[in-house]
Amino acid sequence: MTNYPEVNLYIGGAWKKTAYAQPVLNPATEQVIGRVPVATRAELDEALEAAEQGFKVWSAFSPRKRAEIMVKAATLMRERSEEIARAITLEHGKPFNQAKLEVIRGCEFFEWDAAEGQRIYGRVIPSEPGIKYTVHHQPIGMVAAFSPWNFPLSQPSRKVAGALAAGCSIILKASEETPAGAVHIARALHDAGLPPGVFNLVFGMPAVISEYLIPQKQTRLIAFTGSTVVGKHLTKLAADHMKPVLMELGGHAPVIVCDDVDPAAAAVTSAVRKARNAGQVCTSPTRFFVQEAIFETFVRVFAETARTVVVGDGFNSNTQMGPLANHRRIEAMEALVADAKQCGARVLTGGERLKQPGYFFPVTVLADVPESARVMREEPFGPLAVINPVSSIDEAIQKANALPFGLAAYAFTHSASRANQLTEGIEAGNISINTLEASVAETPFGGVKESGYGREGGTEGLFNYTVVKNISHSMTI
Ligand code: NAD
Repeated sequence: MTNYPEVNLYIGGAWKKTAYAQPVLNPATEQVIGRVPVATRAELDEALEAAEQGFKVWSAFSPRKRAEIMVKAATLMRERSEEIARAITLEHGKPFNQAKLEVIRGCEFFEWDAAEGQRIYGRVIPSEPGIKYTVHHQPIGMVAAFSPWNFPLSQPSRKVAGALAAGCSIILKASEETPAGAVHIARALHDAGLPPGVFNLVFGMPAVISEYLIPQKQTRLIAFTGSTVVGKHLTKLAADHMKPVLMELGGHAPVIVCDDVDPAAAAVTSAVRKARNAGQVCTSPTRFFVQEAIFETFVRVFAETARTVVVGDGFNSNTQMGPLANHRRIEAMEALVADAKQCGARVLTGGERLKQPGYFFPVTVLADVPESARVMREEPFGPLAVINPVSSIDEAIQKANALPFGLAAYAFTHSASRANQLTEGIEAGNISINTLEASVAETPFGGVKESGYGREGGTEGLFNYTVVKNISHSMTI
């Protein structure tokens, strides 16, 4: 298929073909577009050996030299953004323009982390005369990282950039369903002059790879983005070997719409955002709690806007939302909608798969959804919004906090005191007021409760990839 790259393993600075490969599908056509290799245990051992050597080399580089290589890699990806975006649209389905924006976002992670890696400052602790206490942040070692399929380039970029900026080496197991983004990261780092073994890319059976890599002595941190259930499993494996984890897991983002805002404007913004990446975003706005006075207007305009979202092949220039990335998401949407209907929810638009090849499912709006419906508890991870009325801000906060998740949360209000009440009261790692953007390269991103542990991005993000060493130095003996 045009412009879809050959996917191989990248170990010790060299591309490696394997005997076994599984197909990659285009979700817009359900046709095979490429193949992804399956790493053997011997190849994982090679990657471990390479990453161990790579760590020795890279951790000895000055932060400035590391930054130069990372920024060069980002510049190469910017130059190749059309080619990379084409591959992403083929394997993931998202509209081509959104794929290009994803490439830029991935580059921003590299550029920001490269700069911040030069500012991982320690401390000098005031002490008695004759002794000096200094605190140093050293790179933690080799990172085993696992990235998901929803953002084939920017998800792995976030982990790779953080690890490299802190001076770590990395073995990345990227998604087998959308492998091309990670392949392009490897190409760019290779062409930018990254020493062999610092970055290694493998694919295969996710459970086999994680269970093999986590216990190995070279592995010093496990970084995962994906579902809470898999995150808990990997955290248990890591605990058996006393390894730290960085877990970016599921969410079920609440949006509180207060009656002091223009309900139509908030509804249009919300419906458009819901369609982003076909809702397959851990921060996707999903549970809308709208004050009663503006509820009907908000629901009506949200549904009207959702109906206008053009769903289609990501290469059509008028497409605003592509297919879902795999058949599992279609099955999940169908099951959640059927259950909500049975519980008494109103389906205002959408609700059924489009009758054509490809995993197309329209933006779906459910209103007056009873608490008993599964969708009130389970993250849809698709283009599904639930909209319910609330009588007070206190009730909205209580409902927002009712789930075990706490990743992103949003609110619309022009009242400073309400904004304060909401940002103080909602349990989430990221709260956005009057915007549905939850994270950029320079801000820390991550969850509380079952949404995960640790932060990516911002100054805080790099500290996950370091260990603290305190040095006590007496001037006499
Ligand atoms: P899943 O739980 O099977 O897999 C989620 C991710 O984890 C995938 O990338 C998969 O390759 C990986 N994975 C699964 N088992 C693993 C293991 N034992 N070791 C290492 N990696 C493993 O679900 P799915 O159908 O692929 O995705 C659906 C769910 O995943 C969604 O409901 C959503 O909650 C979650 N998800 C979250 C994000 C995110 O950005 N937080 C991204 C993608 C998926």
